[in-house]
Amino acid sequence: MNDLITLSAVELNGLYVNLQEKYEGYITQKLKLDMSRGKPSPEQLDLSMGMLDLLKSDDNLKSADGMDCRNYGGLDGIPEAKELFAHILEVSPKEVIIGGSSSLSMMHDTVLRLLLHGAGENEIPWGKLPTVKFLCPSPGYDRHFAICEQFNIEMVIINMLKDGPDMEQVEKLVSEDESIKGMWCVPKYSNPDGITYSDEVVDRLASMKTKARDFRIIWDDAYTLHHLNNTPDKLKNMLATCKAAGNPDRVLMFTSTSKISFSGSGVAAMSASENNLNFFRKQMAIQSIGPDKINQLRHVRFFKNLDVIQEHMKKHAAIIKPKFDVVLDILDTELSGTQIASWNKPNGGYFISLNTLDNCAKAVVSMAAEAGVTLTKAGATFPYGRDPHDKNIRIAPSYPSLTELRTAIEILCLCVQMVSIKKLLAEGNNN
Ligand code: PLP
Repeated sequence: MNDLITLSAVELNGLYVNLQEKYEGYITQKLKLDMSRGKPSPEQLDLSMGMLDLLKSDDNLKSADGMDCRNYGGLDGIPEAKELFAHILEVSPKEVIIGGSSSLSMMHDTVLRLLLHGAGENEIPWGKLPTVKFLCPSPGYDRHFAICEQFNIEMVIINMLKDGPDMEQVEKLVSEDESIKGMWCVPKYSNPDGITYSDEVVDRLASMKTKARDFRIIWDDAYTLHHLNNTPDKLKNMLATCKAAGNPDRVLMFTSTSKISFSGSGVAAMSASENNLNFFRKQMAIQSIGPDKINQLRHVRFFKNLDVIQEHMKKHAAIIKPKFDVVLDILDTELSGTQIASWNKPNGGYFISLNTLDNCAKAVVSMAAEAGVTLTKAGATFPYGRDPHDKNIRIAPSYPSLTELRTAIEILCLCVQMVSIKKLLAEGNNN
């Protein structure tokens, strides 16, 4: 494609007329294509169906320590589930708590506990302070931001660079402002940029000086095993790095099998220092008499060990990689060289992050919706739903079929071009 910035107004108008004709063609098709959320496709969910045949009524449903998984008890998980997640997160089983089926719920409850009870026995509950702030590398995960908004935690945008959050910005802010108590991080194949934090970023996060001594990083390692090719990104172990830096309690790590087994019926886990976990366990004991251990047992008996999970994840990749490739191919064909958009080519995770010219994303998403393509709301990847440059659009390729995806991305590219041309013409710099 041509560099649109250098085209004359006459050329841009000519191009717009052609694009509009195509767009109107799509409108008449009355399409209904949903790319709003990063959900696994039915074929991916089918990969774990064998799990449902695993436990029979005459099976021994006892965990490794002899606990009857059908009954109450086992507040923080069965030993073999802790062992499995310890391998996934490269920590010790003593540093793992197994939750219910959702890591987001665990993170939500953790933030709530920090607000109600503080970060340790003798710490002030954050909710008692006049202001609590969280650093939010952005674009980021909309549901993290929704948790902060729900609890009145002020969000501070941190720019995402190629290797993670802008550490100059982070270090300066945390060293000066005691009300900054927390930070959200999706450190591997981040949502939506697909960025994995470099070793240097992990080191600096673990060792930086913070004015708040009870500062916590919520390390949402949701995509830790979700590679798209055979040369996966490597993430430095954050808990080990925090311990080595003398800040063992700084990080609270989370993950789940939502996009390994079943979304909503998987198993979630948290990992942190034993000190942190002991503190949280006391609060968990009030909330529950025990989690769904039958589901934990089912998962452990199905997946057995990390090697089996890694082989299973290759099957996921074989289904979703062609979808990512379709999106990237169409973006390349339609938008590369135009100077009106840029996007990432992730090695894993669930998203492709598309950036338009400033002040175009909302208009693009709304035009695409009129043609039947539902995308994640523009702005959703930023705190308070406000993208300061109105340019980020999250593409979630996993759920639609390849055919649907092709049409949806072609429409998206048309919309990006039409909205950009309108903007360029309105600015009047193309003579
Ligand atoms: N964390 C991130 C970064 C996600 O993208 C998602 C889902 O899209 C979740 C957490 C949700 O995880 P769970 O299903 O374990 O609640």
